[in-house]
Amino acid sequence: MKVAVAGAGWAGLAAAATLSRKAISINLFESSKQLGGRARSVTDGEWFIDNGQHIMLGSYHHTLNLLSSFGVHERKVVRRKLLQLEMHANNSNTVTLKVPNVAAPMHLLWGLMRAKGLDLHERGTALRLGARLIRNKFNISEDLPLEKWLLQNGQTRRLIQFLWQPLCLAILNTPIKEASTRVFLHILKKNFGREREDSDMLFFLPALTDCMPTHAKQFIEQHHGKIHLSQRVTGLAIEQNTLTGIYLEDELQPCEQLILATPPWVTKKLLAQHEATRSLSHDLEQFHHHPICTVYIQYPDTARLGTELIGLVDSIGHWVFDRGINGQPGLMAVVICGPGKHMTMDNETLAQTVMHELSDFYPNWPAANCWRVMREKRATFGCETAIQSRRPGPKTPVKGLWLAGDYLNTGYPSTLEGAVKSGIMSAKGLMAEYGLNSPARATP
Ligand SMILES: Cc1cc2nc3c(=O)[nH]c(=O)nc-3n(C[C@H](O)[C@H](O)[C@H](O)COP(=O)(O)OP(=O)(O)OC[C@H]3O[C@@H](n4cnc5c(N)ncnc54)[C@H](O)[C@@H]3O)c2cc1C
Repeated sequence: MKVAVAGAGWAGLAAAATLSRKAISINLFESSKQLGGRARSVTDGEWFIDNGQHIMLGSYHHTLNLLSSFGVHERKVVRRKLLQLEMHANNSNTVTLKVPNVAAPMHLLWGLMRAKGLDLHERGTALRLGARLIRNKFNISEDLPLEKWLLQNGQTRRLIQFLWQPLCLAILNTPIKEASTRVFLHILKKNFGREREDSDMLFFLPALTDCMPTHAKQFIEQHHGKIHLSQRVTGLAIEQNTLTGIYLEDELQPCEQLILATPPWVTKKLLAQHEATRSLSHDLEQFHHHPICTVYIQYPDTARLGTELIGLVDSIGHWVFDRGINGQPGLMAVVICGPGKHMTMDNETLAQTVMHELSDFYPNWPAANCWRVMREKRATFGCETAIQSRRPGPKTPVKGLWLAGDYLNTGYPSTLEGAVKSGIMSAKGLMAEYGLNSPARATP
């Protein structure tokens, strides 16, 4: 059985590793020169940085289990911290939500009850919603744009501004006026509905490529898989509704099973070439994408946030990460989620604007030494209400052709966990359908 995986982002790597574990030798074709897709580290001049600042949550069980199956201890790749949201506005208004180390879901209610910077009425309003969500198991009958749903549920403008909007951008990278309430609540349920540890923030320690892709590569190769970099899949060979091969540039490579783990905008084009997959391709055409921009600013070593992460309200920058935790003292990563004014600014103007904003909050910091702007125009798909019914599962109408990627119907928005879960779902679907679910071969 010739099994191929196209695309070595976190979805493709998770799929390839899952197949490898069951003694299925795979060929993984990746168009770029490196692994990791949108979650990778890059060299840019003298900088070796992540393609964009990433964070995980304690509820990312598929990703954490995958890492553990590679023999990687969580402590080697991430540092866990109790959830703490510290939102600063430049008029000295600050709201801090800190969950205590008590059992879920009490920790959420306790955190809301003790939130600093909210008045009694605001705390009561947020608390009542939290309690109702827990009672209803975070379910709603009809999906609505998040802002509309929050207003219907009595949330004040200030609560939205300081609490719900930042969370919405962080989780869905989609403007709150359009974002899907159902997906948002699904994530709240994953984080607050089960174990306290699920709501932890997990800060990556090594460079992103060394957190998962490098370990996945090692695991796949130890299990006789082959990884081919700079190999672009340009077409699919389909005969009588059955996959017979893939085209690498113009060369046909026979294969019986393919997990297509390319991003939706590439998958859409590959699927449009065939009658059998045209309607799937049409669904993918309905997706649109939102950017994430990370401005890395290197200050002298003495500059410290005082915590790993803060949020900014009504600023161009949304989140500031202190990379001191990564052994990079003085390096700040300012993340700008979704579309906005920054998109029309050139890099120099954007970096200066962000540095100016930071100087309002940290007036004693010394001047920055240098900066880099990383823009990913298609960082995530827009997680709106309308798109949810268009998200496909891993199985396609073509025998032997499977999909993986963060856009699949996993319940998650565009995230590392969604990507990894989709890859595992796809590999398991393939194995189940073809009776390949044989016992794992021992690691050499
Ligand atoms: C700046 C930024 C910040 C983010 N922050 C977070 C975060 O904090 N937490 C979080 O959970 N998620 C975050 N995300 C989202 C997360 O990175 C993505 O959801 C995830 O990486 C998507 O993985 P994927 O494998 O589905 O797709 P991709 O990473 O896009 O992988 C697809 C792969 O296919 C390859 N490919 C494309 N075309 C072809 C072809 N024709 N043939 C072969 N290979 C091909 C690509 O080169 C790529 O390697 C962020 C994303 C960005 C960009």
